[in-house]
Amino acid sequence: MSYDYQSLLDRVHATVAAQPIRGKVADYIPALARVDGRRFGLALALTDGRVFSAGEADEPFSIQSMSKLFTLVMAQRLYGDDLWQRVGREPSGTAFNSLVQLEHEDGFPRNPFINAGALAVTNALVSRYAQPERAILDFLASLCGRKKIFIDEDVARSEEQHGDRNRAIAYFLKAHDRFENDVAEVTRTYFRQCAIPLTCRELAQAALFLANNGTTLDGARVLSPVQTRQTLAVMLTCGLYDGVGDFVFRVGLPAKSGVGGGIIAILPGVGSLCVWSPPLDARGNSARGIDALELIAADLAVVPGVL
Ligand code: GLU
Repeated sequence: MSYDYQSLLDRVHATVAAQPIRGKVADYIPALARVDGRRFGLALALTDGRVFSAGEADEPFSIQSMSKLFTLVMAQRLYGDDLWQRVGREPSGTAFNSLVQLEHEDGFPRNPFINAGALAVTNALVSRYAQPERAILDFLASLCGRKKIFIDEDVARSEEQHGDRNRAIAYFLKAHDRFENDVAEVTRTYFRQCAIPLTCRELAQAALFLANNGTTLDGARVLSPVQTRQTLAVMLTCGLYDGVGDFVFRVGLPAKSGVGGGIIAILPGVGSLCVWSPPLDARGNSARGIDALELIAADLAVVPGVL
């Protein structure tokens, strides 16, 4: 008999939902602070085509930094190995929006998942696409099987209004000749990619190619097998900011979080998981999301970095 994923998700959802809520919903982007902290959903898409879910898996939420995973993939497709001239692949050990390390390291961002690296990646997309925002929306729509995806204008405006720190990072990259485009244009695109709402089910579906050696279930190649391995490696070492060591200790899966409270985690060869619970721990990662993934990983006997 095959593994009973549905009862696993149900069990994990019930166990985690019964615990008191820890953490705090992100409020540095005011539009995100309005989200109800009790929302909680889980979805698992398998490489054999089956999809399982529990809780509010069909409720859209702000993908925030999970967008950085998909813009990284787009940039890998466009630039190949040259991308790594623009951004590194070392964990940062600093907060997602920190400027400290950039000063010491000549404006070379440690990895594509901290804000500095994600801005460098979006800058790279702006250099190649006439309509970068359209390209990002179309890419995501094709991966999650939707005709069209929209931006939450409220969240986008809120990010733009409170985005001085991200603009400061972008100007810093520019001062180091690592940013060939207009800061306002790139930060606008970046704020808007973060302000896309998607559901757990859609996000699990969108990331499924990473569990499937770089191809979608329809057989379309998104990344080469080597690029897929590289993306998973960056997720494993950098996907949860300065909380990544603890996350790998507890969960052990390549993952990417966002301050909207979502986390995508990949089970290579098996499937793709997405959890959503808005209250964040001190490092900006979903507290319940990590609890849920820890229980799932324990049940599946995940060996960190191997599965
Ligand atoms: N839009 C957020 C920012 O740049 C994304 C951060 C995150 O999700 O970690 O501040």
